[in-house]
Amino acid sequence: MTAVPDVAVPVSGKAGRPAVLGGDLPVPLADGRTVTYANLDYAATAPCLAVVAETVSELLPWYASVHRGAGAASRRCTREYEQARETIADFLDVRAEDHIIFTRNTTDALNLLARALPAGTTVIGWDGEHHANLLPWASAVRLPVPSDPDHIAGQLGAALADHDRAGGPVLVAVTGASNVTGEIWPIGEIAEVAHAYGARVAVDAAQLAPHRPVSMTRLGIDYLALSGHKAYAPFGSGVLAGRPDWLDAAEPYLAGGGATAYVGEPGEVRWHPGAARHEAGTPNLIGAVALAAACAQLAASDRNTLEADEQALVRRLRTGLAELPGVQELRMFGPDHDRVGIVTFAVAGREASEVSAHLGAQGIGVRDGQFCAHPLARRLLAEAGERAGQPLGENAIRASIGIGSTAEHVERLLTGVADLTGG
Ligand code: PMP
Repeated sequence: MTAVPDVAVPVSGKAGRPAVLGGDLPVPLADGRTVTYANLDYAATAPCLAVVAETVSELLPWYASVHRGAGAASRRCTREYEQARETIADFLDVRAEDHIIFTRNTTDALNLLARALPAGTTVIGWDGEHHANLLPWASAVRLPVPSDPDHIAGQLGAALADHDRAGGPVLVAVTGASNVTGEIWPIGEIAEVAHAYGARVAVDAAQLAPHRPVSMTRLGIDYLALSGHKAYAPFGSGVLAGRPDWLDAAEPYLAGGGATAYVGEPGEVRWHPGAARHEAGTPNLIGAVALAAACAQLAASDRNTLEADEQALVRRLRTGLAELPGVQELRMFGPDHDRVGIVTFAVAGREASEVSAHLGAQGIGVRDGQFCAHPLARRLLAEAGERAGQPLGENAIRASIGIGSTAEHVERLLTGVADLTGG
């Protein structure tokens, strides 16, 4: 690292915590006042880590082709691109033979995996998934999310035993943490059951990896997908990490230069094995380097402290919301189940869009809707409505936090919601 770049936007960071850009962003209100933006929408897209911006600014003057040039700039870019792969491999604690393939995001990574599955593969998953982990699978068994997480292993075992009679490869596709509720899935246990039946496991770690350390080796995760923009690294990159055999046997995800070892007469093509096979075209160098910088920063941080800080804010958010009349939290499992920094709720008698617009008008950023997990959001809204004794509408409000979130943001949200509930 040499020069610290000119970063135009304010940077914030508590001692010992990585700094993010935009932590002190001034936003204008309708009444002419200006307040600091309370970004409570990390689960959609997290702000950029300062170190990511610094790393990218430092590389930009060298920006040149990757894998295609012999000049100094091109050689540096190629080196940094491949080094980014190594950094991400370390961050995810992959097996030595695993591939790290750069993609655009989690959606792209899971679609790539779906195309690489051997013919006749059955995918088993749950109906609580984000659409990115529901829709790419052609031949899928969709299990209902049980209300007791202790039932997941037994439920999966029964589905796998059922499938055993039909035969063919099986992939179990599950999220690491729900994008609707933040609740964490028992990945290690799921992998153990899957492997006992010779099945493989793909984890959508879009929400988990930015918040918790993930070891693919220790948890027995065969494939993992994540998005840079949710892991404090904008610039449009994602990753598919995992076992090489299916990926090397599959048709390339994109046909084109970079994936080819030899091209001859029409129809005569030899494709590379390895990550290159699925990365045709000029790669997203900046995205890859940005993601690696974020991973390196997270890995070097005291993640126990980051998690403890996040959990303290989540607790305050949840208890504060629970005290407001007519506010119901959405959850799959019990109220004490472990979760990352996401809290989704509905307010009786108020449209979710009205609540988020009210908060937005006060400089607080949240998201409303069904969060690209329609089956789960609909079901949880219905269940929360039963607990509340009245219907809660079709959409919910999601507040999500991470590095850069503060107690003041949480208090502002609670005050903003209380304006509407009278609590
Ligand atoms: N999975 C989960 C759990 C997510 O939260 C998201 C983003 N909301 C995705 C997949 C899709 O991520 P992307 O839009 O970056 O492809």
